[in-house]
Amino acid sequence: MTTGLADRLRRRIALTGPITIAEFMREALAHPTLGYYRRARAVGAAGDFVTAPEISQMFGELIGAWLAERWLAMGRPEAVRLTELGPGRGTLLADALRATRGAPGFHAALRLHLVEIDETLREIQGVTLQGALPPVQWHERFELVPDDAPLLLIANEFFDALPVRQLVRTPAGWCERMVGLAPDSGLAFAVAPGPSPLASMLGAEVRDGVPLGAVAEVTPAGVALMQMIAQRIVRQQGAGLIIDYGYESGSHGDTLQAVAQHAKVGIFDRIGESDLTTHVDFAALARTARESGAAVDGPAAQGDFLRALGIETRARALQARATTEQSRMVGIGMARLIAPDQMGTLFRVLGVRAPALPSAPGFAST
Ligand code: SAH
Repeated sequence: MTTGLADRLRRRIALTGPITIAEFMREALAHPTLGYYRRARAVGAAGDFVTAPEISQMFGELIGAWLAERWLAMGRPEAVRLTELGPGRGTLLADALRATRGAPGFHAALRLHLVEIDETLREIQGVTLQGALPPVQWHERFELVPDDAPLLLIANEFFDALPVRQLVRTPAGWCERMVGLAPDSGLAFAVAPGPSPLASMLGAEVRDGVPLGAVAEVTPAGVALMQMIAQRIVRQQGAGLIIDYGYESGSHGDTLQAVAQHAKVGIFDRIGESDLTTHVDFAALARTARESGAAVDGPAAQGDFLRALGIETRARALQARATTEQSRMVGIGMARLIAPDQMGTLFRVLGVRAPALPSAPGFAST
């Protein structure tokens, strides 16, 4: 099926040549009118995919407790910029706020900042957070969040949507993988002639250790964002949590995938109507945070992180005052979040903090 966006991309490529995977992702996801994240309805049971906060209220509740602990560890600053990148339906934050109502002084200190490009999701977030005591402000980009107070940052399933670039190992070296045109004028993968300077972003074990034809990914956009977050955390004080599916070492090849209505579709099949994501390179994010002067906790597997924060105790407390059916749902929700064959292992959690702060809860001390 072709979409308006696919036609535009084909015309553009016919005129000016192949584009990078990153440009393709940026157009497909963030084109001002036709991009996937401009047209909403992505998240939730009725959308294209379901995320952890939509599976169980315990996810946001435990993260709320984590945030309140970090605020205490910072010495209860009287104002803190609680920033969420890509809040989806706003569920995580609503659960986090409800769970921390009893923490004296915490809500009074919070200023809420939501970084969201999707207008419809902004509206939904506003409704979800109606009655939230702290004032809410929306921003198009993280850079626009005021930098005058300590930062608390949450990003769940945000980094996987950032554009990656792909490289292919060829006899001529690592060359960039592009999107070009097939003989029938449909979109198709192509390889740029000549080695790419991006190869310097690959770890040596990938650069020299994988066979010809292998694909590897680098994320200049993710690295630049991580750098900005870490620098602010160091300068302004603060802490953040990055949660996503991904890997911690080496290369995992081509991880670009398209999902629509809970099913995988071809990358070029439903451009602008399917979500495009990649697996997040947590080793690169952790390295970037450290190089920017921040301290890092983890990455931990999501299952271990949530267990360390007490998800099992929380589940029992909810079940103690639930109907049989509700109790069953609490158990199912918990299993989906922490079981190794569900989200427990594939999803990783990276903590970033100002070096003066002690290690964050949820991570085995190292
Ligand atoms: N964190 C939420 C939603 C994850 S989906 C949850 O766990 O349910 C990704 C979110 O990031 C959506 O809200 C999407 O609209 C937003 N988003 C994607 N790309 C973005 C970008 N470049 N800038 C700002 N927001 C973006």
